[in-house]
Amino acid sequence: DLVMASIPVGILGATGMVGQQFIALLADHPWFKVEWLGASQRSEGKAFSEAAAWRLPNRLPDEVANKVVNAAAPGSAPKLMFSGLDSSVAGEIEAEFAKAGHIVVSNSRNYRMFDTVPLMIPEVNADHLKLLAAQSAVQGWKGSILTNPNCATIVLAMALAPLRQFGLHSTMITTLQAISGAGYPGVPSWDILGNVIPHIGGGEEEKIETETRKILGTLGKDRIDNHPVKLSATTTRVPVRDGHTGSISVGLSQRPSAEAVIEAWNSFRGRPQELGLPSAPPQPVVYLTEANRPQPLLDVNRDGGMTVTVGRLRECPLFDYKFVALGHNTIRGAAGAAILNAELMHREGLL
Ligand code: NAP
Repeated sequence: DLVMASIPVGILGATGMVGQQFIALLADHPWFKVEWLGASQRSEGKAFSEAAAWRLPNRLPDEVANKVVNAAAPGSAPKLMFSGLDSSVAGEIEAEFAKAGHIVVSNSRNYRMFDTVPLMIPEVNADHLKLLAAQSAVQGWKGSILTNPNCATIVLAMALAPLRQFGLHSTMITTLQAISGAGYPGVPSWDILGNVIPHIGGGEEEKIETETRKILGTLGKDRIDNHPVKLSATTTRVPVRDGHTGSISVGLSQRPSAEAVIEAWNSFRGRPQELGLPSAPPQPVVYLTEANRPQPLLDVNRDGGMTVTVGRLRECPLFDYKFVALGHNTIRGAAGAAILNAELMHREGLL
């Protein structure tokens, strides 16, 4: 029975910001059970509670606290692996696991733009899962790698997906991104308190511009045909703990009414809602009507942090409309996104 299945899973980068969010979200998961933890040589051989300082408000489950952290290498690890590895090492380690036959559901940027690697938001592009059929022939892996987008990209792509029907042709976004997006210890408090940093390293703006077009694109033969939308992104880091906000303008060739745009967001549903996946929010995009919302402090944890909230829709003198969108970067933008991907794979019989 699918509902009662207990599937063992491992976490690569278990000690990090995203790794801890995996542990928290999987603590009471109906299908997946954390059996294996992996991190760097700094953590290897230590009990998890010794290797990592627990930083989330959720209780650290005893059975995880007492588990010994492994080196990030295949061998004793379960078939299904979630990865929150630092991207400087994720490329090599994730490929090693895929070669050894593991299914790696990753948060890292390394393989997102590979032709046969799905870059998924299950509400938006569940059919991109079909790319996996061609992956092992192209990559030479016995297993596979599946990815979720960058944490700011997810918020943007979920807000844009319902607008494709209106002839979406251009988008400008300026982000206000949380400190937790930089991992731990991340940005020094000296640099971020009382400040805005108008640059995020690691090609954040380019990731938003390229990943969004693949996510919104259509499934072609063994690759995705990118969506034609033109994108321009500016990314900033702000003194917020959790939640990436984006100020977004869009050009829509069909010039829909504001009511039609709001209705498109509120009625947007995807495969996760159809299938009733355990981590699926009932309404993935919610329009808030109050003039001063969404706000990270008030809205980021809506439906377990899996809902993207939008607000402040108004006409734009340069484009057609402008609005504000918000999503939880380590949940909807990372661990929760990967778990939803794995839940979809399970229900599609791919695990
Ligand atoms: P983090 O807090 O710095 O955690 C990095 C993890 O990688 C730690 O578990 C660390 O283990 C492990 N690691 C580092 N070097 C390693 C090595 N040589 N071998 C094996 N493991 C190693 O970073 P994070 O914020 O969780 O981000 C993890 C990944 O997710 C990154 O690729 C990031 O770009 C991506 N991501 C992050 C967010 C976010 O909002 N934070 C959102 C989307 C995607 P030790 O503790 O042993 O050093």
